[in-house]
Amino acid sequence: MNIILLAPPAAGKGTQSAFITSKYHLKHISTGDLLRCALAKNDEMSSYIQNEMNAGRLVSDEIILELIKNELVDESYDGVVLDGFPRNLIQAMKYEELLTDLNQTLNCVLYLSIDKEIAEKRIVGRHTCPNCKRIYNSMVEGQKSLEEGICDDCKISLTQRSDDNQQTFDVRYDTYMKETSPLINFYSEKGLLKTLDASKDPNEVFLEIQKILDSIL
Ligand code: AMP
Repeated sequence: MNIILLAPPAAGKGTQSAFITSKYHLKHISTGDLLRCALAKNDEMSSYIQNEMNAGRLVSDEIILELIKNELVDESYDGVVLDGFPRNLIQAMKYEELLTDLNQTLNCVLYLSIDKEIAEKRIVGRHTCPNCKRIYNSMVEGQKSLEEGICDDCKISLTQRSDDNQQTFDVRYDTYMKETSPLINFYSEKGLLKTLDASKDPNEVFLEIQKILDSIL
């Protein structure tokens, strides 16, 4: 089973990917994570990637498609959950070609819908404990740490992703609207799109996702 998670920033793609992959024995492919790994190389390419990510722009299709191709050849899973790919029409069409080459099909596109204001709060206030990885949000009641900027459990300073700030959020959201949101129609016309309200509790969203996936298995 091959699934795409389509969503604006902070709709919970990472969280739902983790739920789905563990329940359905699928491989999680996050292009954002693959790019963050590529940064460790510290070469010319990594500085280009870092600049684009920090600015909230899309990294070139060429780099992304190369990363994706390397991941799709892994046959030890029953399919993949694509988190953050495709992000524009060119990537979507290239992915179709790759699937044809691999003699596979795309089964479902889960569109996590969320208002811009909620996404903005989730991103700009998001802080993570570098030790236990717990995620806090300084702008959302019920998700704040007891002491500002400090992990409740580990008592160490929380960190923030370098692209989780107001300026980068604005560009990321604009980029999503211009480049990625046309994919909603693209997949809807193919009858593959399922829309979920991602402002709900992540466990509730996953219950709905399970109903959808169980019905197409
Ligand atoms: P994410 O972790 O999915 O929020 O992605 C973080 C950043 O990585 C994005 O803002 C883009 O700069 C870059 N990125 C991730 N996936 C893609 C993609 N499929 N195409 C181009 N750039 C991407």
